[in-house]
Amino acid sequence: MTYDLIIVGSGSVGAAAGCYAANSGLKVLMIDSAHPPHTQGSHHGDTRLIRHAYGEGEKYVPLVLRAQTLWNALAEISGAKLFHRTGVINVGPTDSSFIKNIKNSALKYDLPLEEMRASDVKARWPELVIPEDYIGLFEPDSGVLKSEIAVETYIRLAKQGGATQRFNCQVNDIQYQNDHVTVITDDGNYTGTRLLISAGTWVKKLLPTLPITPVRKIFAWHQADGRYSENNRFPAFTAETPDGQQYYGFPSEDNELKVARHNGGQVISQPEQRLPFGHVAGDGLEVFPFLREFLPGIGCCLHGASCTYDNTPDEDFIIDTLPGQDNTLIISGLSGHGFKFASVLGEIACQFALGKTSDYDQSPFSLSRFK
Ligand SMILES: Cc1cc2nc3c(=O)[nH]c(=O)nc-3n(C[C@H](O)[C@H](O)[C@H](O)COP(=O)(O)OP(=O)(O)OC[C@H]3O[C@@H](n4cnc5c(N)ncnc54)[C@H](O)[C@@H]3O)c2cc1C
Repeated sequence: MTYDLIIVGSGSVGAAAGCYAANSGLKVLMIDSAHPPHTQGSHHGDTRLIRHAYGEGEKYVPLVLRAQTLWNALAEISGAKLFHRTGVINVGPTDSSFIKNIKNSALKYDLPLEEMRASDVKARWPELVIPEDYIGLFEPDSGVLKSEIAVETYIRLAKQGGATQRFNCQVNDIQYQNDHVTVITDDGNYTGTRLLISAGTWVKKLLPTLPITPVRKIFAWHQADGRYSENNRFPAFTAETPDGQQYYGFPSEDNELKVARHNGGQVISQPEQRLPFGHVAGDGLEVFPFLREFLPGIGCCLHGASCTYDNTPDEDFIIDTLPGQDNTLIISGLSGHGFKFASVLGEIACQFALGKTSDYDQSPFSLSRFK
């Protein structure tokens, strides 16, 4: 059997790709070294932010708007409650480049964005304390994705669409003959005409020259109460502190509020180095300075988890074909902000497998930028 598309890594992006490709009538093989959703990759921990007025740059806005449409469609088709329109409040100093990018993205794409003074923020969410000279940018249409539910849903719909799934099956090598590609796994070899490599953090085991640095990250749940909940209209948030640290968090659920720091973390080179939460000195204190100043009503740390970012040097994604192999698409280096895009990246992979040109400008995400 020759597959139309083989997917190496069926986590966030690979699960979406498998779903769209199988339901487009392609013969699809989805492979993963674990059984997605799982805790070995980058999609666990229940939730991920989706922000539209994009602080990481305007070039992402067309992608994230399409991603949101696809998430909404997925929720509707499956009945899974995978998106919560909680709104996202971004707070920071007026000269922060993240804050400036949010404003520019909203202006260019005419996105709803409420600009608020510190006193407006305080009046609306008294639980959130920000310096007097800060501004708040509230995105009413952004919110929270349930990441594990989303991956589980894509995996299920891919299977229903006829995808073959080989999970708990590691890909060890990739070989090319003429216009075909063969993946070598623990369970046997599989051949296809097109390949998607969406192997997340450990993609360099297959493609060692990719400019990707794995970074151990943590997030933790803290004691909260109903004031911080979605029911009470407490939003998801991002915050840049005066010393330039970036934090983000989610409305509380069951009296637990999840919060994390986006920058920092520990560079690692092997999966075993991703030690569990609490096993690195400082884990328990990482968000303490932020909570004390910005969310002083939040209580002690209840539990946490570790995860990984796959950072590129500029923290922009890699969406490109493998040099010299036009039948292989790499989607990787999502640098700790890629989950919200998994739906549209899966669609892009499906279009690639169908031999169609992408609707999006992928030049900012090409490998050639690293030369
Ligand atoms: C703490 C944390 C917080 C984050 N917060 C946000 C957020 O708020 N918003 C946001 O948009 N993004 C966020 N992200 C980033 C986002 O979660 C990731 O960018 C995204 O999940 C990566 O998707 P992926 O498909 O590349 O990787 P994964 O979902 O990890 O999938 C890769 C898959 O490849 C498999 N694999 C790897 N090697 C092999 C092999 N050799 N053979 C077979 N299978 C293999 C793995 O098992 C895995 O299932 C966060 C990430 C972390 C860690």
